[in-house]
Amino acid sequence: MPKRTIDPNSRIVIVGAGAGGLACAAALHMHGFVNVAVLEKAQAPQELEHLAPINLGANVVRAFAYLGLQDQLLERSWRWSGARLQNEKGKQLGYLDGDAIRRCSGFSPITTTRQLMLSVLRSAVPNDWLRYGTELVSLSEGRNRVSLKLAGMESEEADLVVGANGYYSSLREMVMGKTGERKDGKLSVQALIPAADAEGVLDFGRDNVFTEIITTRGSVGFGKNTDRDFNVFFNVTESEVEDTLEADALIDYARTTFTGIDRRVDGILNVIDPANVRLYFPKDRPLSTGWSKGRIVLIGDAAHPCFQYTGLGAAMAIESALVLAQSLKTSNDHTQAFRKFEKIRLPRVKVVNAKSYQGCRVFGMKNALAAGLRDLLMGLVPARIAAKPIFDIHAKEFLK
Ligand SMILES: Cc1cc2nc3c(=O)[nH]c(=O)nc-3n(C[C@H](O)[C@H](O)[C@H](O)COP(=O)(O)OP(=O)(O)OC[C@H]3O[C@@H](n4cnc5c(N)ncnc54)[C@H](O)[C@@H]3O)c2cc1C
Repeated sequence: MPKRTIDPNSRIVIVGAGAGGLACAAALHMHGFVNVAVLEKAQAPQELEHLAPINLGANVVRAFAYLGLQDQLLERSWRWSGARLQNEKGKQLGYLDGDAIRRCSGFSPITTTRQLMLSVLRSAVPNDWLRYGTELVSLSEGRNRVSLKLAGMESEEADLVVGANGYYSSLREMVMGKTGERKDGKLSVQALIPAADAEGVLDFGRDNVFTEIITTRGSVGFGKNTDRDFNVFFNVTESEVEDTLEADALIDYARTTFTGIDRRVDGILNVIDPANVRLYFPKDRPLSTGWSKGRIVLIGDAAHPCFQYTGLGAAMAIESALVLAQSLKTSNDHTQAFRKFEKIRLPRVKVVNAKSYQGCRVFGMKNALAAGLRDLLMGLVPARIAAKPIFDIHAKEFLK
């Protein structure tokens, strides 16, 4: 065992209680750090723990296993045997073999809810570390400490600060300088459909495959989510719906746009309940390096956000959290730990970000001619081979 030289009593303040912040706190707890606080601006966990579906790469299950949380996660999740990408004519363009990922890595990709993912992570963090309703306003770094200013005139001192405060992180610019932003012009409408509502519409008893159908006006994805519900999403063109973002209007828009592309989609559009709909705005940033400065380090979407097309955003945040905690445990000081963290993570983040961005460009084509050519070319290779680049990033061990 390497000798520990970072004091386990070091005051470590994590900003943000999303997937990255909670996983980091759970891993630091596991490694024997005892003086940690997680600051979260949401007033209560329920504000973040939405009943919205989320696809999680196999590495999320690996990470939960590492934290001793695998059984809790799998209890209310669904393991699909494959994910199929097809066009609106029913032509299969790619097939990600979930069973093969499991055979190769020991873990399956799953779907579950954001509520379950976050609440299971939270259960591994000591209660008195969690400070909901606490917003970081600014911070300044002295020679040996960081001073944090919190909303409501409160303040806090820390030896180290972990910025896990998401895509719009206020710490990002401080650490990395000005960086760009990329949007794909889509709005993602995500919904859970209770199994009872889906009777006669969706039945994955025999065909346990998550399906995504891409069209030039957006895409529709659906599959089983847990044994109680189905996971459905529509990615639609933001400029066409921005005038009204009400769930009813978005479902009407989806009906106009997608009716007729597949019998199951027609059925989904008839039973979807606007009360179960949530909206997300896909975005990423061109990869920038230098995720730490002095005593501050960034993880997750604050450091390396990626588009959702590989289903690995939360996985990347959780993986980085675990690698950072391990680096802090096995380094002589924080400078070495932060350097080690970035050295381990950068090659993987580079590949996942590039493939997620490619996914956004290739699957989001609006031009019918270009989309036709894409389908023709993708149709020339077997579906499993077409999905091989995604397979590889799902199956890869990330802690070595
Ligand atoms: C449309 C869409 C679909 C997606 N689908 C998937 C998917 O299927 N699978 C997947 O793995 N990923 C998916 N993602 C990506 C995934 O949601 C993110 O990558 C992941 O949530 C990032 O986790 P994080 O902890 O870094 O940040 P976040 O989850 O954003 O958490 C950051 C936290 O910091 C808090 N915070 C911010 N500022 C402050 C402050 N100043 N003080 C205190 N607290 C603060 C916020 O309230 C928030 O709780 C999707 C994203 C989008 C947009």
